[in-house]
Amino acid sequence: MPSDIIVAIDGYSGCGKSSTAKATAQALDYTYIDSGAMYRAVTLYLLQHQITISDTEAVIQSLPDIHIHFSAKKETLSPVYETYLNRENVEQAIRDMEVSANVSEVSAIPEVRKAMVHLQRNMGKDKRVVMDGRDIGTNVFPQAELKIFMTADLMARAHRRKKELEAKGSSATLEEIAANLAERDRIDTSRSENPLVKADDAVVIDTTHLQFDEQVHQVVALAQKAMNVN
Ligand code: C5P
Repeated sequence: MPSDIIVAIDGYSGCGKSSTAKATAQALDYTYIDSGAMYRAVTLYLLQHQITISDTEAVIQSLPDIHIHFSAKKETLSPVYETYLNRENVEQAIRDMEVSANVSEVSAIPEVRKAMVHLQRNMGKDKRVVMDGRDIGTNVFPQAELKIFMTADLMARAHRRKKELEAKGSSATLEEIAANLAERDRIDTSRSENPLVKADDAVVIDTTHLQFDEQVHQVVALAQKAMNVN
């Protein structure tokens, strides 16, 4: 009988973590949790309330007013979860370039991380989750049975992100997108609190030359193996 596990997927911005994690969760009949969406929702709240992000004290004071939860979309067969901020569906709004431009500064604040990590650990307490982010395998679930570290060429990532944003009607240029990805990588890897690093026991998947189906297949196969070993 295969055991229940946690699949932790970390890596650089825009290398396909979320879509891979989502498809893996679907294949395993697990719940997908987008930890980045939580940091994005906090950022959206701060922007909506004109709270200066560099004013760390003000950010910390606003944390008790920020309530984030995920809820399954009604019209889909297998559950697709959407992000809610104070009961409002913000799944689209948190993907805006303005949020992307500010989220890494927000997520570098230790108190913000502490609050989000607490929520994330709660969501994974019964296992059967695929969670993607930057510190899932190193900090949120260091005991995760399977850890993946995803990476890809910066320009390959920028091209893919541009396609996604274009489909949503965004006119951001390739240069703007590449600059945002590079800047987020810089802040995420250099912050003092739980920076983005590969866990020693993570499996590296470079998606630069991989088709989407191939990367999903690799992760699902590794997960099935981990279920039978643990
Ligand atoms: O995954 P996504 O790109 O949506 O994440 C947005 C931002 O949230 C990242 O650039 C990073 O600054 C932050 N993040 C984080 N830790 C996580 C997930 C996301 O710091 N576990």
